[in-house]
Amino acid sequence: MTLVIGNLDFYVGCPMTANIIDGKTLANALQSEIAQEVKIIVEKGIQPPGLAVILVGDDPASQIYVRNKKAACAKVGFYAQEFLLPAITTEEDLKKLIFSLNQNPKINGILLQLPLPKGMNEKNMLELISPEKDVDCFHPVNVGNMFLGRPRFLPCTPAGIMEMLKHEKIDLKGKKAVVIGRSNIVGKPLAMLLLSAHATVTICHSRTVNLPGITRDADIIVVAIGQAGFLTGDMVSPGQIIIDVGQNKLGEKLVGDVDFAAVARKVAAITPVPGGVGPMTITMLLKNAWQAARLARKTVASR
Ligand code: NAP
Repeated sequence: MTLVIGNLDFYVGCPMTANIIDGKTLANALQSEIAQEVKIIVEKGIQPPGLAVILVGDDPASQIYVRNKKAACAKVGFYAQEFLLPAITTEEDLKKLIFSLNQNPKINGILLQLPLPKGMNEKNMLELISPEKDVDCFHPVNVGNMFLGRPRFLPCTPAGIMEMLKHEKIDLKGKKAVVIGRSNIVGKPLAMLLLSAHATVTICHSRTVNLPGITRDADIIVVAIGQAGFLTGDMVSPGQIIIDVGQNKLGEKLVGDVDFAAVARKVAAITPVPGGVGPMTITMLLKNAWQAARLARKTVASR
């Protein structure tokens, strides 16, 4: 029997036991709080946080992400400026734009949508963004500060996951957390945040041996690899918390890295796709922009 993702009432005769961790509702609640705070400062005559979103080229998926980020800004009352540049843009032109945004007092956060067109060096371009405006938390200075336990910003997807675990009142102290995937934007920073919360963390990747043995023994499993339905029912155990970061397109459908139907029947709690980690990621981006604006005001006030 097939599961329709999003419809959680499935498996006639095989009731799902897992609690569904609803990222969408939590994200909406947190966004309402941000909108409320923005309203208060705007009423005091203070400018709202400003985000610049840069898209180079015409990748359709990137166009959707940019549109979503702009809509999220509008929803909470942020100022948003969009820069849609043609694929023939040179690194020199992009550099000039980033430098001008670094100097622009109306802009607190700069988002450079990835991937950049072939021939552009993503790492070099991302590092041009001032660390004070790096609300994605990709800049080595911000990554380093986060690893040292004194973050200016937290990386958005890992921070969204930690927020969900906190909201679910999951005490991470001494828990065995397994993170599958070791990317710089999800796996590695998440492992660090879990470690800071006193979990015992195992990071797994494509060369890990006996992955099912490791996952079955965990208290919490986070899957971030980008393969639909990778974590199957035989890889999990009762009582576990499952966080599905994956976003994979199966035809028109968006699915995660977890075989949701099989896994949800066994474990204690699970995030759905869509409606789990995704909405929290964008919310954490807004939170970082809010934090960037607050820090910028503090710097101006101390001059
Ligand atoms: P990535 O940079 O492609 O990294 C994938 C990781 O998965 C790598 O570390 C790779 O291991 C590991 N991996 C691949 N196949 C594996 C296997 N068979 N067994 C164990 N590990 C395996 O991916 P990413 O950027 O972290 O993204 C992962 C997924 O999360 C994607 O679906 C992406 O769309 C999604 N995502 C979602 C959000 C959100 O907001 N929901 C945000 C970011 C990403 P090696 O290092 O050994 O190659």
